[in-house]
Amino acid sequence: MPVDADTEKFIKAIALKNSVEHDGKSQAHAVVAKIAGSKPELRSQVKELMPEINAIVQKINAMPLAEQKSLLEELAPGEMATKKLTVGQQLPPLEGAVQGKVVTRFPPEPNGYPHIGHAKAAIIDEEYARMYGGKLILRFDDTNPLKEKLEYYDAIAQGLEWLGVKPDIVKNTSDDIELLQSYGRKLVELGGAYICTCSQDKVHDLRAKGLPCECRRDHAIALDRVRKMFDGSYGESGAIVRFKGEMADQNTAMRDPALFRIVEGDHPRLGTKVRVWPTYDFAAPIEDSIDGVTHAIRTKEYELRNALYFAVLERLQLRKPYLLEFSRLEFEGLPVSKRKIRPLIDNGTIKSWDDPRLPTLAAFKRRGFVPEAIRKFVLSLGFTLAETKPPIESLEAFNRKLIDPTSPRVFFVKNPVEVHIKDAPEEEVVLKNHPTDVTLGTRKVKASDKFYIAGDDTANLKVGDEIRLIELSNIKITGVDPRLITAEVQGGEIRQSMQKIQWIAKNDIVEYKVLIPKALYLGEEYNMNSLEIARGFTESFVSGLKPDTQIQFVRFGFCRIDDGKTAILTHR
Ligand code: ATP
Ligand code: MG
Repeated sequence: MPVDADTEKFIKAIALKNSVEHDGKSQAHAVVAKIAGSKPELRSQVKELMPEINAIVQKINAMPLAEQKSLLEELAPGEMATKKLTVGQQLPPLEGAVQGKVVTRFPPEPNGYPHIGHAKAAIIDEEYARMYGGKLILRFDDTNPLKEKLEYYDAIAQGLEWLGVKPDIVKNTSDDIELLQSYGRKLVELGGAYICTCSQDKVHDLRAKGLPCECRRDHAIALDRVRKMFDGSYGESGAIVRFKGEMADQNTAMRDPALFRIVEGDHPRLGTKVRVWPTYDFAAPIEDSIDGVTHAIRTKEYELRNALYFAVLERLQLRKPYLLEFSRLEFEGLPVSKRKIRPLIDNGTIKSWDDPRLPTLAAFKRRGFVPEAIRKFVLSLGFTLAETKPPIESLEAFNRKLIDPTSPRVFFVKNPVEVHIKDAPEEEVVLKNHPTDVTLGTRKVKASDKFYIAGDDTANLKVGDEIRLIELSNIKITGVDPRLITAEVQGGEIRQSMQKIQWIAKNDIVEYKVLIPKALYLGEEYNMNSLEIARGFTESFVSGLKPDTQIQFVRFGFCRIDDGKTAILTHR
């Protein structure tokens, strides 16, 4: 029996998946069972399809496993990722972890909206805390008044709440500012740090050469300057506190890095009261230590600074947590870096932090991603050091599985073309909102002899073609004009080979658009076509759905209602 292209592709994908899950060998009977299970309408044809299924299985079994995997990824993107979840990926055990005593922390700087990379960090921190019956601290790392805003503290808290990450303790690094300063003073007094009044250029230059400056030489100078430093008598770039590391160290992070600097700015919590602010390199180890953090997990780019982290704690005789690194996460074409996103916001190209093209959690939410999908996806990646940029399709596969069972199926026709069907009756048609879940109900549409179908579906139509209007009737094309298709009702059964298309009754149309987010960056360049807008008609039923309702536009994709006239494409 000749098999149409879609069915063939479907069988191939099922067989590949079966094969990949069984070390490269698929079995025809397992494939048949899967086909019947996932496409009931093919059940009656399995017998006729058998030769084709056998041929496909044989061909696939002859391929190397790696080739099967890449073909599967091509035919059914994301299936590979789904597989990982079913084998139950778990985070590796933490070194030195004691049940009930593990404390992790997620320390975002409130200098922007939380993004998918923050989600990875927060989820892993939380999973470890739960795994060991311990605690998770959310610590706003707010020690730079020039970059931080209350808006961002709120956005981070909301993002985590949406993700379902529940910290046991919430605090700010700035709460401890006096304590941090007193540790700074102590470190100078102990001879572990000094106050440097050299110009920025000089500091930079000597650091590159691996040479010390005058300020470092004499401990008495440091003792003389310490009070002046911490009581704020120096001007803005008049002095910094520097760690006494090793100016010739191979690891440049140890070449006397800055621990405190003077910043004139209006801090969102402390106003202008504080002028002497610790750097990340000083605040992070001390906060982790005094907060009781047992395992501090951070991204790989900090690796060179691990030595400094421990050296600060060593000299102050403070407890040292375990330090672990993992890889940063971002999707191909969707950078998380503020360097790439902020200019687009500042110059008005992107109007808000929840623009569907952004990698922020607010954007993922608005597009229709569910937090559970993000968590499953993050855990499927595991705890790796390898910097990879997964395609966003691998997250989409998790999301699709979760939203598919509850999304009503409705119609949208892009670039509509009118169809007149001779002698079609005026009738009220009852459409199922979901193919298998009857609890999602039905909707009624008043149909007459005039309809709209999607422009793309008319592209190859010829007189004499028979097509099926989904859940309505079979029609036979009698005339093809770019602006008007004519047809007549054609009785008979639905045939597998028939093109089945969605439609909108002419007296039920609502003008509608769907925003389709595309890659924000192509290589290093902003993608001018990052937001496609599909225009067309939907059913009046859809315009009555509340914002944030998740739907599937049949043969178009999953979408989230944004307002009465617009939906956003979640993914195909
Ligand atoms: P950004 O440039 O987006 O501000 P950042 O590293 O400065 O990134 P922070 O707010 O300081 O962001 O990060 C808070 C925590 O989240 C840190 O532990 C950091 O390692 C982690 N983190 C940030 N970005 C990512 C990412 N892309 N993938 C994984 N973890 C990340
Ligand atoms: Mg940051």
